[in-house]
Amino acid sequence: MSAARLDGAPVAAAIRATVREHVARLSELEVTAGVAVVLATDNESTAWYVRAIEREAGLLGIDCMVHDLGQATTGRIAQRIEELNRNPLVHGIILQTPLPDGVEAADLVGLISPAKDIDGANPLSLGRLSVGLPAFAPATARSVMEILEHYRVPLTGQHVTVVGRSAVVGKPLAQLLLGKDATVTTCHSRSANLASYTRRSAVTIVAVGRAGLLTGRHVTPESVVIDVGTTVDGQGNLIGDVDAASVGSTARALTPVPGGVGSVTTALLMLHTSEAALSGSCVSPAGAREGELMAGQW
Ligand code: NAP
Repeated sequence: MSAARLDGAPVAAAIRATVREHVARLSELEVTAGVAVVLATDNESTAWYVRAIEREAGLLGIDCMVHDLGQATTGRIAQRIEELNRNPLVHGIILQTPLPDGVEAADLVGLISPAKDIDGANPLSLGRLSVGLPAFAPATARSVMEILEHYRVPLTGQHVTVVGRSAVVGKPLAQLLLGKDATVTTCHSRSANLASYTRRSAVTIVAVGRAGLLTGRHVTPESVVIDVGTTVDGQGNLIGDVDAASVGSTARALTPVPGGVGSVTTALLMLHTSEAALSGSCVSPAGAREGELMAGQW
């Protein structure tokens, strides 16, 4: 392996330090930041992720309220989201998928107040990002940006290829990258000759969910590769979209899986929650980061 390893741990640590500053400022205002997680599934990997959010919140002094609605209907989940929108103790709302059969996330995410939409699920948030207005980006997309910034990967004027065009990762990432003056190509399942794009890119970000999609032939010794994908193999191991052996021996830098993008996401959800709490308390967070919401901006 010759590629430099872009670990998520130091990035998450830096984000946690900012969250602790926010929490201290909130405490002076006698405010405790609160995040609500709404779930309606007994899916084991969702349960694992929700426990990770609870742990992260506990570590940082943020209240985490889990609303487990069981096999709820669209109406019941919608009602809970509306209640949480009105609850002043809740600054961030996460609607966890998967949802019960017959319940479409698309019918619900638009109900989350944009000011509390800390995982950028409401289409309004993506729309605002697209036109350069403040909005919370989906945590995974922003995690990628935080990793690139932490490791000082140049983006201005650079060609970046994003593989994957979902509303939660690929599309918001493309917008965030455009906001950093990168020249962005988005590839997807119908894109012909993926390597012709990735080999011409300074940075390649893969968010597909297909193990081993990106191999050594897709990269050059100058490539920086960010692996967002997560798949569980037959032995229960978490693996990414990148063939770590061939890409690792060719590329300049690569994020590991696990230990890369995924290890930053929960810290970022807490950063968004503390930012939302500060905005709601009419205080602009110190060292405001791009995309951050300020009081009265909605
Ligand atoms: P998704 O909604 O299934 O989207 C996958 C995207 O990949 C689609 O745009 C699809 O193209 C594209 N694609 C499929 N096959 C392809 C191929 N052969 N070549 C190029 N593109 C291809 O998935 P997602 O929600 O964006 O998640 C993507 C991956 O990231 C998954 O592995 C997921 O588990 C992981 N993830 C990780 C984190 C984390 O914190 N680390 C968070 C969220 C997601 P079409 O649009 O043409 O179908």
